[in-house]
Amino acid sequence: MPRTPGLRPQGKTEHEETRRSNRRLLLQGIFDEGPISRADLARSTGLGRATVSDIATDLLAEGLIVESGRGQSTGGKPPTLVELNPDGRFTVAVDLARHPIEAALLDLRGRIVARAIGKTITPQRRDALDEIHRVVARLVGDATAPALGIGVGVPGVVDRSGLVVASEQLGWSDAPLREELEEVYGIPVHLASDVEAAAVAEVGRTGSDPSGRMLYVKVDDRIAVAFVTADRLNRTPRHGGDLTHLRVPGWKDDCGCGRRGCLGCRVSMIRILGPDYLEMSTEARNRLAVETTPRVGRAAVYLGAAIAPIVAAVDADQVVIGGEMAGWPAVPEQVSAGISKHLEWCPQVSATQLGESAVVLGAAAMVLSGELGVVWG
Ligand SMILES: [Zn+2]
Repeated sequence: MPRTPGLRPQGKTEHEETRRSNRRLLLQGIFDEGPISRADLARSTGLGRATVSDIATDLLAEGLIVESGRGQSTGGKPPTLVELNPDGRFTVAVDLARHPIEAALLDLRGRIVARAIGKTITPQRRDALDEIHRVVARLVGDATAPALGIGVGVPGVVDRSGLVVASEQLGWSDAPLREELEEVYGIPVHLASDVEAAAVAEVGRTGSDPSGRMLYVKVDDRIAVAFVTADRLNRTPRHGGDLTHLRVPGWKDDCGCGRRGCLGCRVSMIRILGPDYLEMSTEARNRLAVETTPRVGRAAVYLGAAIAPIVAAVDADQVVIGGEMAGWPAVPEQVSAGISKHLEWCPQVSATQLGESAVVLGAAAMVLSGELGVVWG
């Protein structure tokens, strides 16, 4: 048969693709089941013994896995076990929706090993990018192994190329954040909106649910939703799932956007708590939390009513409330009451248990799955 030179590169690409996907399969197997023998890995992944051995040798050389003692003998010599090396790589994750901004250094198991707190970024701050560099550089410097990548959760709309299309909270439009960070640190950067990152973290925490349909609602100064079906995040690269300026019939409140009656006027946590909230001590915040409980409760009912059509349209089987609002008691109950005003059924509503770390956990998870193909949970 004559050789077709044009097809050769494609054959090579296919070979590389297979190798990459086998490597991901094996790493996930070690991640989920390690310490595990190579023979058991071959059985659980369906890969050949020689393939498993080859890839394991590479992963050991790269420091991503380590040998960890011997397993049970099945007649012959007891097999050597391998497991993930949690300190083999680190991930830097940044939450730009927090006031002040927060970043964390995480190991490969998703444990936070260091944190860095920056300053509050507002639309007026001209040195916002410098501030991000300060926290990222501090954590990259703390890492005892190479950083796998940087994950960032942005309050706003992020497109697939890593461009921050718009962020009212940061005062940015068309900001090439991914490009700027990759240029400085020379490692991959994964960007998503804060609500997308938080939703990814929630899936990692609750474990895999192939039939799950989760609507994640994050309420801070902005209100945004993300939708996860069968463990897959449905990205919203054009409008970011933002409901802050959804107009509510009958409301006349003046909104900062220049219009009247936006959902954010009564549901945004900054509108409820006041702008001084950002600068308050923890004690003052806790005092204010008690005083504002009835207002947050009413806001949660409004929120439930506003998301009821979305809940119905996506046929959600669970609604998770995240962001600042998740810290107030009885919020899930009140969101359910709001949904039930418009629907005859109501999915399970809960508040995230990940607290203030949700966005950094999700941003780190995106780096891990993007770079190593490994998924937590
Ligand atoms: Zn508005």
